[in-house]
Amino acid sequence: MQIHKHEAIIVGAGGAGLMAALYASKGGTDVAVVSKLYPTRSHTGAAQGGISAALGNLDDDAPIYHAYDTVKGGDYLTDQNAAMVLADNAIDAVIELEHMGLPFDRTPDGKISQRRFGGHTSNFGESLVRRACHAADRTGHMILQTLYQQCIKQKVNFFDEFQVVDLIINKDKCVGVVAVDIGTGEFHIYHGKAVLFASGGWGRCWEVTSNAHSLTGDGAAVVLRKGIPLQDMEFYQFHPTGIYRMGILITEGVRGEGGVLLNSRGERFMERYAPSVKDLASRDVVSRAIYDEVEAGRGIKGNNYVHLDIRPSTVNRFFAEEGRPESDYIDDAYVEKKLPDILDFCRTYLGVDPVKEPMPVQPTAHYGMGGIPTNIDAEVVTDENWAVYPGLYAAGETACVSVHGANRLGTNALLELVVFGRRGGMKIAEDVKQMEWTDLPSDAGKAMESEFKRIRTSKGKTKSHELRQKMQNMMMRKVGVYRTEETLSEAVEELKEMKQLYYTDLTIDDEGSIFNTDLMEAWELGCLLDLAEVTAVSALNRTESRGGHSRDDYKKRDDENWLVHTLVHSDSGDVQNPNYQINIKKKVDLSLAEKDDKFIPKERVY
Ligand SMILES: Cc1cc2nc3c(=O)[nH]c(=O)nc-3n(C[C@H](O)[C@H](O)[C@H](O)COP(=O)(O)OP(=O)(O)OC[C@H]3O[C@@H](n4cnc5c(N)ncnc54)[C@H](O)[C@@H]3O)c2cc1C
Repeated sequence: MQIHKHEAIIVGAGGAGLMAALYASKGGTDVAVVSKLYPTRSHTGAAQGGISAALGNLDDDAPIYHAYDTVKGGDYLTDQNAAMVLADNAIDAVIELEHMGLPFDRTPDGKISQRRFGGHTSNFGESLVRRACHAADRTGHMILQTLYQQCIKQKVNFFDEFQVVDLIINKDKCVGVVAVDIGTGEFHIYHGKAVLFASGGWGRCWEVTSNAHSLTGDGAAVVLRKGIPLQDMEFYQFHPTGIYRMGILITEGVRGEGGVLLNSRGERFMERYAPSVKDLASRDVVSRAIYDEVEAGRGIKGNNYVHLDIRPSTVNRFFAEEGRPESDYIDDAYVEKKLPDILDFCRTYLGVDPVKEPMPVQPTAHYGMGGIPTNIDAEVVTDENWAVYPGLYAAGETACVSVHGANRLGTNALLELVVFGRRGGMKIAEDVKQMEWTDLPSDAGKAMESEFKRIRTSKGKTKSHELRQKMQNMMMRKVGVYRTEETLSEAVEELKEMKQLYYTDLTIDDEGSIFNTDLMEAWELGCLLDLAEVTAVSALNRTESRGGHSRDDYKKRDDENWLVHTLVHSDSGDVQNPNYQINIKKKVDLSLAEKDDKFIPKERVY
């Protein structure tokens, strides 16, 4: 096995990985970025709507309002110190991106243009605020390209198309990772003083998802298998507007520009569910509303979707009803300029032209609020006392800071990447200076070699893609927008059976070693099954409804018993038969609540 030695190993080259690599490298650290995708193919590049920062370019805004919205949007499970760090650092982060060359849209007087997004308000919920900085509807693409260029300039070492499959631990320290060279099938070891996971989300656990094929939660699963806990996994966000059946995302920016949701009667139904912020209520609320409309028989043509309408005639009619000034009215050219990719997706995949017809949409699995628990410096923490795991860091969607609490506000994810990616990079640069090298254990990588041999040569009857489909379908029905004890218990049982098949009855078609995507996808399925199981176990355990976790049998938020984070870990050390323990509950940081009564949990009023 080839061994590579670099002080810091960053797993993943999306926004979080690149930002961490850039800052570790600028701090004098020798950095290697190991990524299963070519960096600019990372999912960050698919982000559309924007990145939030209280610049106040168009409306009255301040970081404290942004922090408040983040805490409230997260249904008070957000760690308030982290929300404040996010909001405070946002302004610098966006200006820094601009100085790196990111081509943001502009206001007529040359400032960074901003648009509305759900849950972002001025003066503690008084009115919606324009806070999302954007480059048309390609904001993530621009961030990714900009950061990759900066890393190249900084001479960061990239190992593209190397898939990390295990963490190496020696003397209770993280000392590196094991990776497969996808092109050759060979195993490589990356020996480091610090390892940062920035490997993105796990939306592929569900059938209808906005997430790319690669989002299989490898990093979170690899960490979980080492006995390190995952936090708040029951909170998974369904974005209300995915293209019907395909799940491809239609950015919330469409509603930010005035688009409205309509049911089969042509009613703007969000007026009933959230009278003040309507279509821009938080994503959990809008997803549930769509679900309820469909259940009540008001889906379009009796199907399980509704319409999203950005036709200027519709938008201007509602603007007039709301008494908005005529200067706000939009026309076809405006929609073409602000939402070019969305128009392109709909015209290409649906044959629907959004400036002429409404778009068919349904909720789509979108974002994991939970993940690998960290503190605000991206150090991984393992228990309710915030004990730090030496040498291990995480940032981006795979991490749980927890800045999104039970539900993330739109545009706060891209911001999280740059803010906490940067903090992680800086912390690593500082830490590695003091750290001694720890040797690799003598059996490094051996367990993974045999696991891959098992998958490659297993001669069962279950094809991995069929098992994956079965899991995704089940997760959609039983661990979706609404959950109950019954659906969740069934899910836990069914996942156990699926894992049994995975370990005893698998078969794959390609036994080769060169670009064996069949093999890699079969390994990824193991990660998805683990994360699906942890999600279902955590969701069954939490007997309340909060943010993205909606229990039909426990409809109320229960602050008395549940204003705590879930930490779940396996105590058996057996990957095939983990014994998941949820007896650790970490306290939510309520530091702002102690200073300001606005940050104290209240019943939500829309
Ligand atoms: C369609 C879509 C639109 C979105 N729009 C917005 C938006 O407008 N605003 C917003 O704030 N958020 C948005 N989000 C959310 C946000 O884009 C993501 O949460 C964020 O980009 C995740 O970034 P990341 O750096 O954590 O991971 P990613 O960008 O997903 O990158 C993951 C990286 O990890 C690597 N990797 C994964 N597994 C392995 C492995 N085993 N070995 C080696 N490398 C590995 C991959 O190669 C990749 O480089 C959107 C998400 C989607 C899906």
